[in-house]
Amino acid sequence: MAKIQMKTPLVEMDGDEMTRILWKMIKDELLTPFIDLNTEYYDLGLEHRNETNDQVTVDSANATKKYGVAVKCATITPNAARMTEYDLKEMWKSPNGTIRAILDGTVFRAPITVKGIEPNVRSWKKPITIARHAYGDVYKGSEMKIPGGGKCEIVYTAEDGSETRELIHNFAGPGIVQGMHNIDASIESFARSCFNYALDTKQDLWFATKDTISKKYDHTFKDIFQEIYDKEYDDKFKAAGIEYFYTLIDDAVARVMKSEGGYIWACKNYDGDVMSDMVSSAFGSLAMMTSVLVSPEGYYEYEAAHGTVQRHYYKHLKGEETSTNSVATIFAWTGALRKRGELDGTSDLVDFANKLEKATLDTIEAGTMTKDLALITTLENVTVVNSEGFIKAIRKTLEAML
Ligand code: NAP
Ligand code: MG
Repeated sequence: MAKIQMKTPLVEMDGDEMTRILWKMIKDELLTPFIDLNTEYYDLGLEHRNETNDQVTVDSANATKKYGVAVKCATITPNAARMTEYDLKEMWKSPNGTIRAILDGTVFRAPITVKGIEPNVRSWKKPITIARHAYGDVYKGSEMKIPGGGKCEIVYTAEDGSETRELIHNFAGPGIVQGMHNIDASIESFARSCFNYALDTKQDLWFATKDTISKKYDHTFKDIFQEIYDKEYDDKFKAAGIEYFYTLIDDAVARVMKSEGGYIWACKNYDGDVMSDMVSSAFGSLAMMTSVLVSPEGYYEYEAAHGTVQRHYYKHLKGEETSTNSVATIFAWTGALRKRGELDGTSDLVDFANKLEKATLDTIEAGTMTKDLALITTLENVTVVNSEGFIKAIRKTLEAML
C-alpha cells in the first residue's frame, strides 16, 4: 500500500520521560508505516532546552506560526528538584507558557469518551469541552495585607497625569485587599478563538461570568463577547446550526450538571482552572483528555492534557514493565494530522486520522486497555496490556480496518 503523502510539514515538538517513550512508539507503530510523515522536528526534551537556553521552545512556537499546526509531547516544567536532576543552567519556564505567550491562544480541553468508561455524571453522553482564558485576573493580581485602620483605593493615573479613584474599603481594623486586571485585546482574542473553535467543531458555545455582581469587570467580558458575536459570527453560527449563549456562572454550573454534554464551555481564567479539573475527573481519567491551543489567527497546537508520567518513567528506567495510557498522545497526533489534512485539502490524511482514532477506541471497547482504564471500566473480561502492548493492539485493529 502506498504511503499517505503530506503537503505541508507538521511542527513536531518532542518532550520528556514516559511520554517521550510513548511518542516514539506511536510514530514507529501507528504513523510511519502508513504516512510519509513530513514534520519539522523540535526537541523540547529538557536536556535540549537547557543546551539551547530554551531557544528551541521559542523556535518551535515561531515554526507553528509559519506552518499553522503543531503537535506537542508532554514536557517537564522545571522545579528545584529538576535543577539538580538535569543539572540545569536556569529554572527554565514552562514550555506551554512560553508557547502560549507567543501564539496568544486559548486552550480547549476535551475528554475522549469511550464505551466502558462512564462519566460520573449520569446525564453526560457527549464530551464537554472547556475553553479557559489563559491571561490575567487573579493570576496576575497584586495583593496586600492591611495591617489596621485606614482607607484603601484603586488609583488610575492616566498618561497625562490625571487621576481617577475608586474607594475599595474604609478599614476599621486589619484585612486584606487584591487588585487584578485584564486587557480588552486579550478578551477579544479569547472570544474569537472560542467562536472559531465552535464553528470548527460544530458545537454550541456557552459563556458565563458573574456580571450581576461584577458590573464593570465581568460585564466587560460579557459585552466584548456579545459585540464580536453580533458583528462577526451571528450569520456563521446560524449557517452552521449552532448557538452562542451567555448566562450567569451559577446558572451555567447547574445547567452543565443536568446537560447531555456536546458543547464548549468558555470560562474566565480561574473558572477554567477549577472547572477543567472537575470536568476531567468526572469524565474518568486525565489520560483520556486532549488539549489544543487555538490562536486567534488560526494556529493550532495539539497535545495531551496530562504530564510526562514521571512515576512510570522511573519504573521503565529500572527495567520494570509499565502500563501507561497513550490515548491522549495518539489523539494529539490525530488532531494535528486531521487539521493539517483539512488545511491542505488532503482528504486521505483526514481519513487516516479518523480511522486511527476509531481503531484506538475500538481496541478499548473490545476489552484491551492499560491499567488505569482497567481500574475504572464497566466492561467485563478485560485484558490489561503494557504500554507497548496497547499500541501494538491498536495497530492490529487499524490494519484490519485499512
Ligand atoms: P502526570 O504526568 O500527569 O502524572 C500524574 C499521575 O497521573 C501519574 O503518576 C499517573 O498515576 C497518572 N497518569 C497521568 N497520565 C497517565 C497516563 N497517560 N497513563 C496512565 N496514568 C497516567 O503529572 P505529574 O506527575 O504531576 O507531572 C510529571 C511532569 O509532567 C512534571 O515535571 C510536570 O512539570 C509535567 N507536566 C507537563 C504538562 C505538559 O507538558 N502539558 C502538564 C502537566 C505536567 P499513577 O502514578 O497512579 O499511575
Ligand atoms: Mg488547575
